[in-house]
Amino acid sequence: MDDHPPNLPWYQPIGDEVQVFEAAWAARLPVLLKGPTGCGKTRFIEHMAARVRAAGGGTGVPLVTVSCHEDLTANDLVGRHLLLHDRTVWTDGPLTRAVRSGAICYLDEIVEARRDTTVVLHSLADHRRVLPLEKTGELLQAAPDFLLVVSYNPGYQTLLKDLKPSTRQRFVSLAFDHPPPALEARIVVHESGIDATQADRLTDIAQRLRALQAQGVGDGVSTRALVHAAQLMRQGIAPRRACTVALADALGDDPALAQAARELIDVLL
Ligand code: ADP
Repeated sequence: MDDHPPNLPWYQPIGDEVQVFEAAWAARLPVLLKGPTGCGKTRFIEHMAARVRAAGGGTGVPLVTVSCHEDLTANDLVGRHLLLHDRTVWTDGPLTRAVRSGAICYLDEIVEARRDTTVVLHSLADHRRVLPLEKTGELLQAAPDFLLVVSYNPGYQTLLKDLKPSTRQRFVSLAFDHPPPALEARIVVHESGIDATQADRLTDIAQRLRALQAQGVGDGVSTRALVHAAQLMRQGIAPRRACTVALADALGDDPALAQAARELIDVLL
């Protein structure tokens, strides 16, 4: 991107996602980033958080990121009473801190979290913008600069189905996918430092591996994996070996698929 604002985490826009996010931010509408893993969702939110901060004069709007996992409970997000010496003190969780102070709270891979987490999101994501702290009896009104952003992989959307339709519909949905080859090559060049010709060959391989995997399970080769292959090449690893370890063997546990991928790489490189 030629007019990329300086001093921001570098992000290559694919469509109009930057403009849509800016509009959602201005209206304080919660945003849902959906797409396969490694396709730029986290980089996008890092870029946008810095971008709205820069637009607002350079202060405030920090980014609070929570990587969700299967053991993550509502209490982990909201907070809990902790024993300190001989008394218990309430400690805000990351979501509560973001709501109180006014930050973008990014719940990465929300579907991984336990189901009880959706309950606390309802009133935050709808017009009320409040977080009920059951344990303290507080009804916390979100600070003006609070924004809820969640990401998920559409392959596994059970938890989002648990969101009330009224809440779910308030999210502005931005769909991410593998970038078109020319843009993906540009990302690979920027992130690894390999030259454009090598990056073109890598994106070509990625296209073919994705086609190969289209019938199988999983997301296919991610832009992240492609960047990793390029970074290995930059460190002196031969292209064929770099692609084997970063792309073919990372495709999943299907030995037949990995073998087919290796053969494809051998032919192309
Ligand atoms: P996700 O959050 O979707 O799993 P990431 O945002 O972590 O994926 O992206 C993985 C890596 O891929 C990033 O660290 C970056 O190197 C690269 N990347 C993917 N898409 C883009 C993009 N549009 N602009 C810049 N870098 C990107």
